[in-house]
Amino acid sequence: MIENSYIEINKKALKNNYEFIRNLIGANCELTSVVKGNAYGHGIKNFVPTAHECGVKSFAVFSATEAKEILDTGLDFSRIMIMGNIDNDQLSWAVENDIEVYVFDQLRLSNIALQAAKQGKKAKVHIEVETGLNRTGFNRKDLTKTLEFIRNNKDSVEISGMCSHLAGAENIANYYRINKQIKRFDNLEKVFQEQEVTAGKNHLACSAAMLNYPKTVKDLVRIGILQYGLWPSKEVKMAYMVKNKVMEDPLIPVLSWKSKVMSTKIVKMGEYVGYGNSLLAETDMRIATIPVGYSDGFARSLSNQGKVIIAGHRLDVVGIVNMNLCIVDVTNAEEVKIGDEVVMIGEQNGTNISVASFSDFSNQLNYELLTRLPNDIPRIITK
Ligand SMILES: *Cc1c(COP(=O)(O)O)cnc(C)c1O
Repeated sequence: MIENSYIEINKKALKNNYEFIRNLIGANCELTSVVKGNAYGHGIKNFVPTAHECGVKSFAVFSATEAKEILDTGLDFSRIMIMGNIDNDQLSWAVENDIEVYVFDQLRLSNIALQAAKQGKKAKVHIEVETGLNRTGFNRKDLTKTLEFIRNNKDSVEISGMCSHLAGAENIANYYRINKQIKRFDNLEKVFQEQEVTAGKNHLACSAAMLNYPKTVKDLVRIGILQYGLWPSKEVKMAYMVKNKVMEDPLIPVLSWKSKVMSTKIVKMGEYVGYGNSLLAETDMRIATIPVGYSDGFARSLSNQGKVIIAGHRLDVVGIVNMNLCIVDVTNAEEVKIGDEVVMIGEQNGTNISVASFSDFSNQLNYELLTRLPNDIPRIITK
């Protein structure tokens, strides 16, 4: 079968990134791999087993559906944690499979306790506390009642963790707000101690927090973007490299995205290329068509903006990005021919296009571009 494009997942890069993270957090902190958004586009089905081979057995997702995908790999896990959405009628399934669930309101807590009681089993919950993100989480004033409920239902609920999320640790402009959140979290840790409930693992840090606010590295860190070899923001990268006096990026991107040239042809001077009039050939031009378009996650905003690599040349995407195709100017790359490898993300003969560079072309965030890569693009693990 001919694929329009494919994604490579590089295991050596992943290993390198885990080593980098583990060195920062030390031996007593648990690294939980965040694989929401289909493992940031890397594909849960392929990424989780590869991470597992690198020694990671603790995973966090947004939804029950994603948790099920992890379970379906059939591997042994030390932790699968749902940080977001789970339906009432999936709670029983979660308890049965030892899936840990964030709770941020009394309703979910009561419901999961009820399901656990029916099974004669303990539900494993993470108590999310409000520290200032103002999204989900128990407010301080409700916490005493919540912890009392848990004490009274010891046989059906067990606290696996207490946690909160920061409101933009990747941007120094949020410094004041983040520090306030950290202080609140530290105070709430004391509340848990006073209420004499064992809080399990305390966790607050995402990638940016781990780097910018080392104090947020508690018993566990929830690491998404960094494990994939990408920085939460340029600012975080620069801050790390300057502070640690390193000249070379310590991370290696895990994902590459590639395709092949489908066709080439000459367009005469004075003709328009592709739909409409967005590109006028000002000389005789040679173009190559690539079977990758916005339905594949190659954003329409890359029209006349994007770059790809063919035959070692960094080349311009010209005209409008179509649903299934884009057009590349190969006028000055004579050797380009049908079947040549095209790199949308990754490296070819020492030339590189990073995910981060897409934000320069199209204002698309690292995170957004990756999660828009469709699940049906084949993922291939490389060594
Ligand atoms: C996505 C997410 C993370 C991971 O964030 P990164 O910036 O990718 O490291 C951590 N915690 C929560 C609650 C999240 O939603």
